[in-house]
Amino acid sequence: NALRCSSYLVLTSCHFDRHVHGKKVLVVTNTTIAPLYLDKVVDALTKGNPNVSVENVILPDGEKYKNMETLMKVFDKAIESRLDRRCTFVALGGGVIGDMCGFAAAAFLRGVNFIQIPTTVMAQVDSSVGGKTGINHPLGKNLIGAFYQPQCVLIDTDTLNTLPDRELASGLAEVIKYGLIRDAEFFEWQEKNMEKLMARDPDAFAYAIKRSCENKAEVVSLDEKESGLRATLNLGHTFGHAIETGFGYGEWLHGEAVAAGTVMAVDMSYRLGWIDSSIMKRVNDILQRAKLPTAPPETMTVEMFKSVMAVDKKVADGLLRLILLKGPLGNCVFTGEYDRKALDDTLSAFCKS
Ligand code: NAD
Repeated sequence: NALRCSSYLVLTSCHFDRHVHGKKVLVVTNTTIAPLYLDKVVDALTKGNPNVSVENVILPDGEKYKNMETLMKVFDKAIESRLDRRCTFVALGGGVIGDMCGFAAAAFLRGVNFIQIPTTVMAQVDSSVGGKTGINHPLGKNLIGAFYQPQCVLIDTDTLNTLPDRELASGLAEVIKYGLIRDAEFFEWQEKNMEKLMARDPDAFAYAIKRSCENKAEVVSLDEKESGLRATLNLGHTFGHAIETGFGYGEWLHGEAVAAGTVMAVDMSYRLGWIDSSIMKRVNDILQRAKLPTAPPETMTVEMFKSVMAVDKKVADGLLRLILLKGPLGNCVFTGEYDRKALDDTLSAFCKS
């Protein structure tokens, strides 16, 4: 899908011309983003296109609203506005809005055109690319959804200027991940440019986003439905998910949990003798420079990790498969074949009890 990454968003009508189908557009956004960017996007959609009419639906902000009830508000608006199959849904926001709007676009009238305008680092480098859409169920995250590719992803790095610091850093955990699992050169670039990224330098960001999206798109194009390779994008996520669940969602941001989880996965890779110690040090250093945690919260216990990891989606035949680094920087494996003792030793090293 088309990816436009601009360090000077000026989203103009020309960005949309080719990608908007039909004359009716529904912009899906939330109460935080609407006052910042909705007018800009509506202007870009309508200027020079007098035939295009734009409706919007402003959802409450937060992961806790990524559910069926909120999704219905999107359908309510679409139906009240008499949108037909030739309409276009536009997701304006972070990953929560992108996932929900994408799922709504997949299901409304069995599928309508869909454009992503991601506004967080996380969404710009990860969630807007790859076509996973969905909502949460009270019993688990992202359990209801569809694979549905956007017509295009429009990225304006200027939107990052209003993003809170913690959200910015959290998204960088995913950028660092691409370097570690498959792109050593990109990791080295990050080592040289982390301060620029933290200072929100637009050119540095444009490069980091472009390279991240290329990495993600390549992985997804080889394994869209996640039969193996796509799982490697979850480096640090199994440990991270245990932290999010055990520590309570909302305390730590997703990327913060992934960062601590990455350190644990790297530690385990080292214990297995699969990487040398310099990689461990470099991972710790870069995460610290990104102001991300390098260890789980002190309240996490070995038991808490084990109980969440036992029901991880990557358990097959009772065996927990993990993404671990192996070989020179930029190489990883997704495997259930490792010495259990290394996992136990890593958990003991990072937990007090
Ligand atoms: P988010 O969408 O909740 O956004 C974080 C916060 O930042 C929100 O309060 C939001 O309103 C605010 N915000 C967004 N853009 C802003 C801006 N430019 N200025 C000021 N505030 C802004 O969180 P996220 O980290 O973007 O996304 C997390 C979601 O993404 C999770 O639901 C996760 O499941 C999903 N996800 C999906 C995929 C996928 O492949 N589909 C991949 C990773 C994560």
